[in-house]
Parts: sequence; C-alpha cells; structure tokens
Amino acid sequence: MTVKIIDGKCVAAGFIEEAKKQTSILKASGVTPGLAVVLVGNDPASQIYVNLKAKACQEVGINSQVLRLPAHTTEKELLQLLRELNNQADVHGILVQLPLPGQIRTQEVIKAISPLKDVDGFHPVNTGLLWEGNPRFVPCTPLGCLKLLDAYGCELAGKHAVVVGRSNIVGKPMVALLLQRNATVSVCHSHTKDLYVITRQADVLIAAAGQPHLLGAEAVKSGAFVLDVGTNRLPSGKLVGDVDFEGVREKAGYLSPVPGGVGPLTIAMLLLNTIKAVKYRDE
Ligand code: NDP
Repeated sequence: MTVKIIDGKCVAAGFIEEAKKQTSILKASGVTPGLAVVLVGNDPASQIYVNLKAKACQEVGINSQVLRLPAHTTEKELLQLLRELNNQADVHGILVQLPLPGQIRTQEVIKAISPLKDVDGFHPVNTGLLWEGNPRFVPCTPLGCLKLLDAYGCELAGKHAVVVGRSNIVGKPMVALLLQRNATVSVCHSHTKDLYVITRQADVLIAAAGQPHLLGAEAVKSGAFVLDVGTNRLPSGKLVGDVDFEGVREKAGYLSPVPGGVGPLTIAMLLLNTIKAVKYRDE
C-alpha cells in the first residue's frame, strides 16, 4: 500500500490566501478584523501557540492584540477583562488560551466570552448550534480536520469514522462534524475496551488522545484515512503524534504527520473564524 502523506502546510496555505483576500475586502469597506488573545501565566507551549496565532494574524492583515496576564490572576479579574473585550467594537474575536491556571474555572471563562465573538467555538451556545446542525463558530482543530478530509477527496457519507478522544475542544465537535457528513461514527476514550478492535474498523481514523504513539499499524485498517491530531512533547524534546508514523505509513492510505499535518489548519481556521466574526458584530 502506497501511503499518501497529507501536507497540512500546503492545504493551510490556500486558506491563508483566502483569509488575506477576505481581510483586504473588509479593510476596503472600512473594517479591520480584530482578534484579542488572552494568555494567563507562563506555560511555554501556550506562549508558542499564542505567538504563532499573532504572527498568522499579522500575515493576513488581521489586527491582533495579545493580553498577557500574570499566573496569579483571579477568575474575577479575567471575567472583568472579558466583559471589557465583549464591549469593545474593534475586537471581533476573543480567544482565551487554554489551559488556565488552577484557580480559574475554564467553563466559567468560556461562558463569559460573547458567543458572537467566540472564535474558538467553545461557548455552550456555539456547541449547541453545532450539534443542532446549524453551526456558527466551529472549533478550529476539528474544522481543520474536516478541511483536510475534503482537500484529499475523502467522501464521508456511509464511511465508518472512529474518533479517539472525546474532549470538548477536539473529539466531541469532530464527532458532530462527521455525523453531519453522514459518516457512521464511533467515539473511543480512556475507558474504551479493546481499543484496537474498534480503530481497526475505521475507514477514517482521527486520533486525538494526547498519548504518544498510542496507535500503531496493528490499530489501523489497511488503506484507512488517518488524521493525527495528537501533539506530544517527548522528554527528548521531539514532537510526536498519537500515531506511530513509521509503522502506520506501511498500512494507511492517507496519513497526516506531526508536525505539519493538522496543526497548520488549526491556525488557518482561527483566521477564518475571526473574519466570520465581523459578520456577527451587529447581531
Ligand atoms: P484531552 O486531554 O482534553 O482529551 C484527551 C482525550 O483522549 C480524552 O477524551 C481521553 O479520554 C482520551 N484518551 C486518553 N488516553 C486514551 C487512551 N489510552 N485510549 C483512548 N482514549 C484516550 O486532550 P485534547 O482533546 O485537548 O487534545 C488531544 C491531543 O490533541 C493533545 O495531544 C493535544 O496537544 C492535541 N491538540 C492538537 C491541536 C492541533 O492544532 N494540532 C489542537 C488541540 C489539541 P477520557 O475522556 O476518558 O479522559
């Protein structure tokens, strides 16, 4: 089986071009899309993600501001900042980088962002709209996965898709998107028994468990379309996915690498969600 390695950077480049075009049209009409990124504390991985997001905004002409708050920030202080950003007309999108320090309740923070500015798509209203089949903001990573499936011509209707992971930010919204495309979906998690018996049935396998090399060749059906969302830093510093790339490339039909697979799409989708947020500003 000759595997096709998915080029996330190349697919993302197309969406970044699209974002550039849409931004210049908006600018010509007098509106510059604005994104506020809130970072609490000094988590090194979060710092990298926030910087990547700000750089991507700059590249397409979106105004981005990164608000860096100290690790000891209280929930009340953060909620107050979000209220201010919700009321700021030149801020169309708001994103709070996760994870948050332990003294702050993540769900309270997500709920405090205006659902019309919630470019991460995590607010319960946006979650509801997605499951209802009438999405407004879709979480960037699963949306990026869908775009990769489309870009490589993966027809989902009637296929068995297996999602490993059920988090609110990746696994669950991924399931909603796959169902909307008429796939038959199985969801696996840490309590799943005989994981590989299920993953081996997958025509489309999405790994989002955050467990380095959880899925090897024995977990994959021959010819399957495999997307690896996992981003795991090994003690050596190497970044690896949830899929054993070298083993699975001998078996899969399509396979996304880490890095260079899903990651670039996540950022591209954030740009498009921010541009979309301009449309919602007066609702
Ligand atoms: P979470 O830790 O929130 O969720 C992990 C999920 O995987 C949980 O549902 C958990 O089950 C399940 N799981 C954990 N271990 C196993 C196992 N051994 N077998 C089966 N299921 C398991 O992670 P996220 O969803 O936030 O992220 C998942 C991965 O994706 C991480 O590596 C993260 O870094 C990466 N990521 C990458 C992005 C990108 O842009 N490329 C963006 C966002 C995330 P349970 O619910 O039972 O605990």
